[in-house]
Amino acid sequence: MPTIDSIIEFNRTFVENKEYENYETSKFPNKKLVVLTCMDTRLSELLPRAMNLQQGDAKIIKNAGAVLSHSYGSIMRSIIVALYELQAEEIAVVGHYGCGMTGLEPEPLLEKAYKNGLTEEKVAEIEASGNNVRQWLKGFENVEDSVRQSVNIIRRHPFLPAGTPVHGLVISPETGALTVVDKAE
Ligand SMILES: [Zn+2]
Repeated sequence: MPTIDSIIEFNRTFVENKEYENYETSKFPNKKLVVLTCMDTRLSELLPRAMNLQQGDAKIIKNAGAVLSHSYGSIMRSIIVALYELQAEEIAVVGHYGCGMTGLEPEPLLEKAYKNGLTEEKVAEIEASGNNVRQWLKGFENVEDSVRQSVNIIRRHPFLPAGTPVHGLVISPETGALTVVDKAE
């Protein structure tokens, strides 16, 4: 059965049994924290447990690599909304060792996309409209450097309220151990 069908089926029972009652909270993060982390499946439960984040404690934003690459993209917007509209006051960027974005090169992915219908003409068109496709698909060399870079983009952001602490950490996807890369004063 396709995953979505089993999800929908499970969901009926979940709601019928009122299992949601175990998760009641508000949209405001109890610990006034925003976490930017990676979508890696090993972190789904491990990261919140290892950081003692319960339901309702933090705004958790995820993407591939926990990378903030655009000052005016949707990740930074989410952080700004969390700070101004949702009472968050502190930010932690949490990368992880063994990340799929480490050493990711654009060419093999592009080759796969060409086999799935992408054309070189389309890529030329995308680039002509001001996007650098290879840069967009490129990962990072070193997760700690990448975390530092994202932390610096956030710290220098003109919308960031003065004095907002922004930290950089790297988590182990095996043990959950945190390495502090850059802790705000
Ligand atoms: Zn990752």
